[in-house]
Parts: sequence; structure tokens; C-alpha cells
Amino acid sequence: MSSLLACITLALQTINSFESMNTKPVLLTVTGARPQFIKSAAVTREVASSGWRQWLVHAGQHMDDGMGQDFLAELKVPMPDARLHPSQSGRTPRLADMMVGLAKQMDEVRPNAVMVYGDTDATLAGALAAHHAQVPLIHVEAGLRSGDRAMPEEHNRILTDQLSDLLCTTGPTATAQLIQEGVDPSRLTEVGDVMLDVALAAGNLAKARLPKGWPEPPSSVLVVTLHRPATADNPVKLKGALDALELWAERTGGWVYFPVHPRTKACLERFGLQLPNCVVDPGPIGYLDMQSALCHADCVLTDSGGVQKEAWFQGTPAVILRNTTEWTELLKIEASELFDPELLVDSNGVQALTGRLQLKRSVPSVVGSGLFGEGLAAQRIVAALDRFLG
Ligand code: UDP
Repeated sequence: MSSLLACITLALQTINSFESMNTKPVLLTVTGARPQFIKSAAVTREVASSGWRQWLVHAGQHMDDGMGQDFLAELKVPMPDARLHPSQSGRTPRLADMMVGLAKQMDEVRPNAVMVYGDTDATLAGALAAHHAQVPLIHVEAGLRSGDRAMPEEHNRILTDQLSDLLCTTGPTATAQLIQEGVDPSRLTEVGDVMLDVALAAGNLAKARLPKGWPEPPSSVLVVTLHRPATADNPVKLKGALDALELWAERTGGWVYFPVHPRTKACLERFGLQLPNCVVDPGPIGYLDMQSALCHADCVLTDSGGVQKEAWFQGTPAVILRNTTEWTELLKIEASELFDPELLVDSNGVQALTGRLQLKRSVPSVVGSGLFGEGLAAQRIVAALDRFLG
């Protein structure tokens, strides 16, 4: 009799907890590309222990497992509840495919809020779909501006900020930008950088290991990531960048560790370009390997939005192969400098870039800089969610 009662009590408890789970407000989170899986890692964990239930949608911008699914496992982000498969090629048709898929998800799931990260096409597709479905929109990494209107990311950022109801900024520069653009301060919350949350959590582990395929010490190592169209899509500039790597290795006797992005790999093949012998290409690597490479590097050359900042987080200076950056703070504190890829069209430019790739100069510490928070961005985002929409 008593065991029957215990069974009934347990069944009732299970039903109650299921019902309370189902009465929690639902946050639909849109990811779709490698940097977004990383950014979502900290927030997803925090949301899981909050009063919100989350519904994760992978919008399918990066389909390759080395660029997507493997990251989720490594960063312990739960598998997506839904995965879209944009099937058309070309930016506009893919954006449309993602919007249609996300609109369908919003119709079925009926979320109380939608969260988007960063500045990719998946970000914009999520923002537009949320706006059409009249669901409150939260933008994580709001207020960044590079000033370069030729970059699709700049349009994605501006449009997403315009559509958002709650704008979570990474620090004072982004907050000031939005205020200057006339955004109502009640829509703003300065939370810090979610990438700093993840990088600080990975820091010690990254220092204690070497990434896969890392060249034998004690030689110097230059870590390189390149995938933006401004360099990768132009055979002359891409060749100029490779020549600079070769010249740097000749001068220093060092190695270049260059996890080649699939997009860049396709460009190299299309242009018939070979990586110089000084280059170790492990292919796209995992997040911890990347952090480890950045902290063991002597210098970093990158055109990535995330890697330029992570280099600083891991204490290594970077040369940004772009003529603008949305992370202008890095230039002010001299953690990074810009190098215009337009200059790579001749040997003077190649020489100039090589000269800028200095070995291990020191950079100011990120902790206490006040620029991107203290690694508590995810907690602050969830608190803001409760305040704003709870
Ligand atoms: N990343 C990685 N493995 C790689 C290259 C990049 O884990 O082989 C990570 C990197 O540490 C950063 C993010 O991917 O957190 C940046 O992605 P990407 O450069 O593709 O995009 P962007 O930041 O330019 O939008």
C-alpha cells in the first residue's frame, strides 16, 4: 500500500514539474555559424538554470560538423531542438530560406522572446522573422560598428539593432554608439562580452595544452586565420598574404600555424595557390585548440572578428588584416593594429606586412581593463531577460 502511495506521489511530482517546465516562458535562440555556437555557450548554460525554457534553432549557415556540430559537443551546448537546411545558393536566397524556416519555428513554438547573436545572415534572418511574428527580440553584441558599409556584417548589425527590443552591449564603446544613434536607454543593457566569459573559462585549460599539429618548440609561431572576401576572394591579395607568411618565416626561422577556413581553402584551390612550406594547416580546429594556439603564439594575423579579440584575451598581440574593425577598443589600447589588405598587391605591401608581425610584444591585461566586462555577461543577460520580459 505504502509503495503504491509512493508511486502515485512520484507520478504527481513528475506531472507537476513537467507542467511548471511548460509554463516557463520560452526563449527561442537562433544560432547558425561557428562564432555563434561559441557565443551561445555561456548564455545557454545560464538560461538552463533560470526561469526560462529555451528552444535552440540552428539556422544552418555552417553545415560542416568541424565548423558546427563538433563545437556544440566541445562547448557542452545542448544539441539544437531544430536544425534548418537552407538549400539554395547565394546570399539572398539563403537568407530567405533561413527566414522562412525561422518563421515556421516561431509559429510552432510561440516563444516569449527571440535571442540572436552577432552579425551574421542567421542573425538578420532571426531578427526579421521575430519582428514579423511580433515577438520581442534580444540582440547580444549590439552596438558594434566598423564603419565599413561594404561589409555585409555591418548591415546585419545595424538592421538587427534597429529591430531589437533589448540591446545587450559588450562595453562602454558600444553603449555610447547606440546612445549617439538615438536608441532609447531603456532598451539598452551593458552586460560585457559573452566571448570573454567563454575565453576566461577556457583560459587555464588552453594554457596547459598544445593545439593539434603545433610546431615543435622552441621556434616562434605566427597564428593566422583568414577568410573574409576582401583578401580570400582576391588572388593577388591572397598570394600577397601567403608571400608575407613565407617572408616572415624566412626572417624569423619560425612556423606559421594556419587552420585554413573551408572558404579560404576553396579560394586557394580555385586560384591554384599553394600554402608555403612554413605553414602548418591542421584544418578547422576546435575552440580549446584555438584558444591554446592564441595563448602560445608569438603573434597573430587575422581578419576574423572573434579571433582579433581572443588574441588579446589570451595575451597575444594581433595584426588585423582589414582596414576597419568593429572592436575599436583594441586599437586604442594598442593590443592590435590594422593592416589594409589593399596594400598586398605588390612587394612593398608584402614587406610592410611582414615588418608589422612583431614577435611577442606585451599587451595590456584584459582583466580590469573595463572594456568588455569581467566574464559575467551571460549572468547579466539572463537577469536582463527577467527584468525586461519576465
Ligand atoms: N575558431 C575556432 N577554430 C578555428 C577558427 C576559429 O574555434 O579553426 C573560433 C575562434 O576562436 C572564434 C570564432 O571561431 O571564437 C571566430 O570565428 P570566425 O573567425 O569564423 O568568425 P568571425 O569571428 O570572423 O565572425
